[in-house]
Order: sequence, then C-alpha cells, then structure tokens
Amino acid sequence: MMLFAEFAEFCEKLEKISSTLELTARIAAFIQKIEDERDLYDVVLFITGRVYPPWDERELGVGVGLLYEALENVSGVKRAEIEGMIRECGDLGLVAEQLIKRKKMTTLAFEELTIRKVRETFDEISSLTGEGSMKRKIMLLTGLYGLASPLEARYLTRLILNEMRLGVGEGIMRDAIARAFKAEAETVERAYMITNDLGRVAVVAKKEGEEGLKKLKIELHIPVRMMLAQVAESLESAIREMRVAAVEWKYDGSRVQVHWDGKKVTIYSRRLENVTNALPDIVEEIKKNVKPGVILDGEVIAVKDGKPMPFQHVLRRFRRKHDVAKMVEKIPLEAHFFDILYDGNECIDLPLKERRKMLESAIKESEKIRLATQIVTDKVDEVRKMYEEAINAGHEGVMVKLPSSPYIPGKRGKNWLKVKAIMETLDLVVVGGEWGEGKRSHWLSSFELACLDPVTGKLLKVGKVATGFTEEDLTELTEMFKPLITSQQGKKVEFIPKYVFEVAYQEIQKSPKYESGYALRFPRFVRLRDDKDVDEADTIERVERLYKLQFEVKRQ
Ligand code: AMP
Repeated sequence: MMLFAEFAEFCEKLEKISSTLELTARIAAFIQKIEDERDLYDVVLFITGRVYPPWDERELGVGVGLLYEALENVSGVKRAEIEGMIRECGDLGLVAEQLIKRKKMTTLAFEELTIRKVRETFDEISSLTGEGSMKRKIMLLTGLYGLASPLEARYLTRLILNEMRLGVGEGIMRDAIARAFKAEAETVERAYMITNDLGRVAVVAKKEGEEGLKKLKIELHIPVRMMLAQVAESLESAIREMRVAAVEWKYDGSRVQVHWDGKKVTIYSRRLENVTNALPDIVEEIKKNVKPGVILDGEVIAVKDGKPMPFQHVLRRFRRKHDVAKMVEKIPLEAHFFDILYDGNECIDLPLKERRKMLESAIKESEKIRLATQIVTDKVDEVRKMYEEAINAGHEGVMVKLPSSPYIPGKRGKNWLKVKAIMETLDLVVVGGEWGEGKRSHWLSSFELACLDPVTGKLLKVGKVATGFTEEDLTELTEMFKPLITSQQGKKVEFIPKYVFEVAYQEIQKSPKYESGYALRFPRFVRLRDDKDVDEADTIERVERLYKLQFEVKRQ
C-alpha cells in the first residue's frame, strides 16, 4: 500500500514544473510504478484534484469552517490566530502545513498515513448526513491531520478543498496514462469519454492494456460525454458538404442525458452533473413513455402557452434544490430527444439514421416527451423551410447532421453543424411591403426594412422580413400600415416611414441588391418597436459594425 507521504512528495515536485511535456512524463513514470490498483485509482484522481469522478454525487461537504476546527484540535492554535494566518498567507494548504509543524497532539500508536486510509476516511466523510454528522466529520479530519506530516497536511488540505493547484488537467493525465501503460492516446480518450473516470481508465489500462480499454462499454447510470456541434458557415454550405442531411430543430434549453433501467431514472446535465432530483416531472414522464434499458440524449426546454420560454428559465429549474414542486408548476418543461446511445447494447457506433429509428421505437411521444423534429433531405429549399419553421416556432435554428455518422462522445466535429439566428437584433424602419398570396392576399405578408444614414438622413434598404409573424401580428400590422401606403405596383407597396421593427437574423452579408450595400439573411420579426421613432432606428454604421463582428466571432 502506498504511503500518503510518497504522494505528497511527488506533488511537491510537480508543483515546481510548468512544462506540460515534463509534467506528463513525470506523472507517467510515477503511476507506472504503482502496484496496487486501488492506490492507482486514487492517485490518478487526487493528482487531478478530485476525490470522486465529476458525475459521482458523493462529495466531502467540508468547508473551511470544519477544517479550522480540525486544525485547531490538532495544533492547539486558537481559531483567531489561524484566521490571522490565513489572512496573511491566503493559502489554507500552507497554513495547515505551518500548523502541523506546531502540532501538540502526537498519536500514541504509531500509524502511518496511507492513500488507502485517506480514501476510506473521505468515503466515510462523504457518507455522513444529518444530526451529528458535522461533529463526526471534524473528528475524522482531526484523525487524518493527527497522522499527517506538515507536507502531507498541505496536500490533504488542498485535496479536501478541491484545489490541488498542480496544473494537471484531464488532458495531461490522459496522455500520462497512455504513456505509462503503452496505449494510444486516442484509445485512452475514448475510454475516458465513455466512463468519465480517469482512475478507472488508468486501472483498466494497467491491467488489460489497449485491448481492455477498447472493450470498455457504455453502462447505465454512468454518464457519457456528450457529442457537440460546430458552427456552419451557412445552411447552403452545410447541405453542400453533406449532400444528404438529417436536419433537426435546434431547441434552446438545456442538454440532458437520460438513463432509464426500468426501476430508476438518472438525468445528467451537459456538465454531467446529476440533475434528476430537480426534474421529477420529466422523470415521471420517462417512466411512462420510454422503453426501459436505454440512454437517451436530448434537450429540455421550458414552455408556456405553447411557446418556448428563454433558456434561463430551464436553468432555474436545473439549479433548484428546495421547493422543487413549486418550480415544476411555475416552469413547465418538455424534453425533446434527438439521439440514443444505448438500448441494451451500446449503439453509438451505428449510423445516426439507424439510431434515429431505434430512438423512435424507444419513445412513445407524449405532451412532455417528444422526438426532435427531423427531416432527411438533400434539398436546400426544404432545409430553409425547416429553419424558418423552427424559428417561427420560437426555437434557435437547426442542427444539420450527417445521417451516416456515429455518435462520438465528447467530440465537437463536422458531423453536427449548428445554424442559428444571431441574437444581436436590429431596429429597422419599415419602408415598404408586399401583399400575401391566396388565403393571405388580404394581409401584408412581407415588409421591407431600411437603416438610417445619419449624415444624409436617407433610409437605406437592407432586406425584407416575412417570418416570425403570428396571424394576429399580420392582421394588426396590415391595419396599421394600410393608411401609410403611398404607392402600389402589383403586390408591392411603399409606406410613409413611420414604424420600426426589431428583427433578428442569421447573418449580415455584403450585397449589391440594396442601396445600403448589405443584406440580412433569414431576417425574423421579433416585435414592433412602437416606443421608437424613425430617427432612432439603427444606422448604417451599426450594420457595418455587426457585419465585421461576425468574422471576429467566427475566428474565435
Ligand atoms: P451550442 O450550445 O450553441 O453549441 O449548440 C449545441 C447544443 O444545442 C447542444 O449541446 C444541445 O444542448 C442543443 N441542441 C438543441 N437541439 C439539438 C438537436 N436537435 N441536436 C443536437 N443538439 C441540440
């Protein structure tokens, strides 16, 4: 069994190294030598500053208050003095080290602090709840400090506070594991994305090597890193690249991964936190409408009166720990699922089009449990229509996915492209419009927009908006604009400039078509700014600035 002192001395060495390559090499050499599997597991986690993997619900729940008490017990130094030392030095790890140097309590029986002892004490601490748990925690911590040398106390403290400060992130540890146990970095990465537990990955790599890592499979109630999307240049380029694409609505809420085994539902957030307790309404619906033994990937949105609410509301639901029932009523949620990772067997390596079929057979749609709206097409027009429908329904845009692609956990790649409306809106003057067709011929159905040239006072056209209106909007707007019509040619009309629309859009492009020199792509009506006069509308300078900003955003 490994001594905690050995670990602490190693940490002290690491603290002085800043080169990533050297850190990796040193860690690889250190973990390679560890014989005991449990020690290996703990050391790997501890070096990255963790006691448990990120998704594990257990936590020590030890704040500085408890640490002060334990340190006071062990050193005999009064609380006020300890607080003074902290104020001066700012690093509780170093203060603990100083205090242990002045330790008055010596352990009678000679016992050395081991990694195992630290782990077992941590596990007991994290299992304590309710009355008397604080006292017991202080006792256990006092016991640990009682066995610790000054240097051990430094790292014990930092570990308890989740502040190892060694600069060893997941990437370095992944490379160190690969190097120590002679596996490909890619294989280690995949194993990590599936288990989200570097300690376990290290143990499997040591015991079974590359082959063992490759055999690791997705399991229920262990979250998998989520696949991510890249920004598409445009709808057209996305389709051109994929030729045939699965196009889905992009819902603006919070990502969820749902594990359902027939008895228990566990829901993880995008950061793989367990958010099950905050979502009892979704849990109930899953139990009723989803086939047991699956892992699903989807987005939860808040909906009121049939319209999506801004995603901040969903976050409020996710964060909620108390009075959850009240929140369930206040902020109703819907889950829209777009992928399946497991249905008794791991299915991430199957193509999306097959996973979608499996997803469809796993879910019985209900009011709250839905399949993400999807079409598979090679036609730009259909994609554009889908985009507009998504926007009109109050969603963010669309996801364009390659139907033949596997689900690659943790990967942000070209197989998922997102196209969404830019949130920065423009306030533009309505200078003209067009009557609708067929059933809509008594409504004005599109409106021409212009920005302001503050130097000449002219209105410069930048585009037309025809989406984002409800039927009520169109009825009302038609009534408002009719008296402003100055001329009509065919269906086209011109207005006296009087009203300002706030519009969102996907992109601003250079265009010779309009006198402003710019055109809005996929503009969408947000609302009438009847609090704004024409001369308060956005200027050509702002349009230019936003145009340029797009390139800066893309480059980031
Ligand atoms: P973003 O957060 O802008 O990078 O966009 C990616 C996110 O969109 C994902 O992480 C999901 O939370 C969300 N999303 C909404 N609808 C979908 C969908 N149909 N497919 C994949 N992701 C979606």
